[in-house]
Amino acid sequence: MAHKDIIIIGGGAAGFFAAVNIAERHPDLSVAILERGTEGLQKVKISGGGRCNVTHAEFVPSELVQNYPRGEKELLGPFHKFMTGDTIEWFEKRGVELKIEEDGRMFPISNSSQTIIDCFLYEAKKYNVEVLYNHSVKSIVENNGFKLNTSQDSFTCDKLVVATGSNSKIWNLLETLGHKIIKPVPSLFTFDIKDERIKDIPGVVAKDVEVKVIGTDLVSEGPLLVTHVGMSAPAILKLSAFGALELAKRNYNFEIEVNFIRSEFSDCLDDLKDIKQSLAKKLVFNTAQYDLPKRLWKKLVLASSISDDTRWADMNKQQLEALAAQLTKAVFHVTGKSTFKEEFVTAGGIDLKEINFKTFESKLIPNMFFAGEILNIDAVTGGFNFQNAWTGAYIVSQSIVM
Ligand SMILES: Cc1cc2nc3c(=O)[nH]c(=O)nc-3n(C[C@H](O)[C@H](O)[C@H](O)COP(=O)(O)OP(=O)(O)OC[C@H]3O[C@@H](n4cnc5c(N)ncnc54)[C@H](O)[C@@H]3O)c2cc1C
Repeated sequence: MAHKDIIIIGGGAAGFFAAVNIAERHPDLSVAILERGTEGLQKVKISGGGRCNVTHAEFVPSELVQNYPRGEKELLGPFHKFMTGDTIEWFEKRGVELKIEEDGRMFPISNSSQTIIDCFLYEAKKYNVEVLYNHSVKSIVENNGFKLNTSQDSFTCDKLVVATGSNSKIWNLLETLGHKIIKPVPSLFTFDIKDERIKDIPGVVAKDVEVKVIGTDLVSEGPLLVTHVGMSAPAILKLSAFGALELAKRNYNFEIEVNFIRSEFSDCLDDLKDIKQSLAKKLVFNTAQYDLPKRLWKKLVLASSISDDTRWADMNKQQLEALAAQLTKAVFHVTGKSTFKEEFVTAGGIDLKEINFKTFESKLIPNMFFAGEILNIDAVTGGFNFQNAWTGAYIVSQSIVM
């Protein structure tokens, strides 16, 4: 049975980041990663559509935490110790330059996740981190240190870092050791909607909408994309993250109200009355307003029982009201969810009450540390999920004292 000073279970984003930082800080200690796959960092590889959205250009901790439906309160302190700026610097120091895109997402300038993988593999080698692939951890026994059985071998260690992401087997193991696991549910998904108003217009984007889930406090703003099966883009994905538990409870069957122009019904009605005067002779169907895409405008006009040959001058009170309602409070029935291809995560994991966020150590099992998605922390899309992994892993590396 081999003994290591520090073992990290899981060779993903959090596991590698913890391992290389620990090994750099403690060159005299033996540090090993046990990874169940034939390769590590597989999620990093496919992340951000193969480009790896490493972090986000948000540099104020109190603003940054607002992107975490679960973890907002707990991450504030940790972000004061290590956050986005530190991530950028960490990679830069190792020759990986990051660039900021218009929406704040940050990627390696190579536009390839392989750059991040190569960096981690290089650093691991440089600091003598032993990476043991095909080692799926099957049991963890706490006994004056830890004893681990993998699919191949047994190990003992003094300190243990568990960074196995959203892995139900490890969550079950931790439950037997006394930790409470918040039941996992999907986060970051798109809404399935069958509705004439968005039928056959995939790819259409309304740039700035407000979406509410009827009967809840859930509300979000941002762009909305019509897809082949429903709706996506930040306005929807934010709701799927912040509403992950509530929407799971409703079995992904609920109603949303979309305000396509982010205006009050009465203000919109006043606008439409003015437009009726100014565009009197024009067809309503052909004169899209509020910068809405023409194809969406046409659908909303027809849904307001306004025929395609109606002129603005001929619009009666009911028609004006119906159009204002479609523009400012259109109700859609969501009947299910679909996976968001670019990035998806799981809400749920180790109960945050059981973690000391100054060290990321278990409050129940001394010398056992956690980082990444294994915790009940998740974020909206944009690089924030990796930032959670980097921050937790870095603080673990600083907390381990031998
Ligand atoms: C398609 C996709 C794209 C994404 N894109 C982005 C993005 O661009 N930006 C962003 O911020 N987030 C992104 N995410 C989310 C991000 O990938 C995760 O939040 C992040 O990888 C979590 O890191 P982690 O180290 O906690 O877990 P993981 O990266 O999942 O790593 C866990 C590791 O543990 C190993 N493991 C599990 N069980 C065992 C066991 N029993 N024994 C040994 N090893 C084990 C796994 O094989 C894995 O290698 C994306 C997610 C997906 C699915």
